[in-house]
Amino acid sequence: MPIIVQKYGGSSVADTEKIKNVAKRVVKTKEKGYQMVVVVSAIGDTTDHLLKMAYEISPSPPERELDMLLATGEQVSISLLSMAIQSLGYGAISLTGPQVGILTDASYTRAKIIDIKSSRILEELKKGNIVIIAGFQGVTVDNDITTLGRGGSDTTAVALAAKLGAEVCEIYTDVEGVFTADPRIVPNARLLPAISYDEMLEMAATGAKVLQLRSVEYGKNYGVKIRVRSSFTESEGTLVMEESEMMEKPVISGVTFDVGEAKITIRDVPDRPGIAAKVFRSLADANINVDMIIQNISEKGLTDISFTVSKGDLKKTKEVIEQVVNELGARTFEADENIAKVSLVGAGMKTHPGVAADMFAALAEKKINIEMISTSSIKISCVIKAERVNEAIQAIHDKFNLAKDKILEER
Ligand code: ASP
Ligand code: MG
Repeated sequence: MPIIVQKYGGSSVADTEKIKNVAKRVVKTKEKGYQMVVVVSAIGDTTDHLLKMAYEISPSPPERELDMLLATGEQVSISLLSMAIQSLGYGAISLTGPQVGILTDASYTRAKIIDIKSSRILEELKKGNIVIIAGFQGVTVDNDITTLGRGGSDTTAVALAAKLGAEVCEIYTDVEGVFTADPRIVPNARLLPAISYDEMLEMAATGAKVLQLRSVEYGKNYGVKIRVRSSFTESEGTLVMEESEMMEKPVISGVTFDVGEAKITIRDVPDRPGIAAKVFRSLADANINVDMIIQNISEKGLTDISFTVSKGDLKKTKEVIEQVVNELGARTFEADENIAKVSLVGAGMKTHPGVAADMFAALAEKKINIEMISTSSIKISCVIKAERVNEAIQAIHDKFNLAKDKILEER
């Protein structure tokens, strides 16, 4: 019998009624003739509440203990779901990450999965049980509990689907799937029936919240078909798959945004070899991830360098850059938290000229100033003022007619 992995997010198991609803869905799929492995997140905002408590105790809680704490959330939801399924008359068993043998490295709060032991899962499936597994958690070789980073249950599910050779990994959430833009901002956004791994990776990396980035990487590397769908409707949702297998290939897939970054500009840096290396080495050594980088052409041997970091890293970044400015003899630096990044993603832009020009025109028509631009082969991002972000997203969405016309192209 084929295996299906289903993952239910926190909002899908937010209360006991919803847990009962999930139990019914799981059983319904089993009745279609599948062996079921179900991954569950912590109930509602549990993880946020646990984190809040930790920070009330200490401004920098020890990461090992943080993972010990955060992993408890998922243990609550798996046991309740198992009870709900059993009360429908079906065999079920809940297992934690360590019980399954989801082995990770020891980088607490952002651990990476190294291997998954499938023996216990297969044994339980053979007995006819529905196997319910705690998302987001694993265990090190030294038997310490780890977590995989926020939203990590998606990665647990996709990794399990890869390991078990599941037919599909269904990710159930509170939205119907992946849209051309966030429907709360763009009311006429369209649900995408399918999207390629590469486009989904860019969408997740530029702010789409629907799937954890790492889960998409995992899906791509192991060829796991991922279906994102709502646990509250019957909609088929969005299938994330290999581009070559897609029937329809729209030029543009969607517009995303991110208001979680801040921009730093270093003024009047001497323009000589090794300067950029120095700036970004210092940031890397402080474990700060840099996203966009711009260096202007120099005037009189001096230049400006701008880059973006996540707002959470801003304090640390300022400390590092303060020192770098002194060491390099730059004039000064500025930080701007009031920015947003809007991105346009679509595999068709590789072969379809004029996409960037149209995106910039959409912003220009609304008199929205572009402060930074960066591109990849299937993405264009612009940094603008934060207060213009909703307008910008709608304008770009309209410009490319994403609400209705699918511009299809042979790729
Ligand atoms: N409960 C964890 C979180 O909220 C993991 C997850 O939901 O995927 O980040
Ligand atoms: Mg959650």
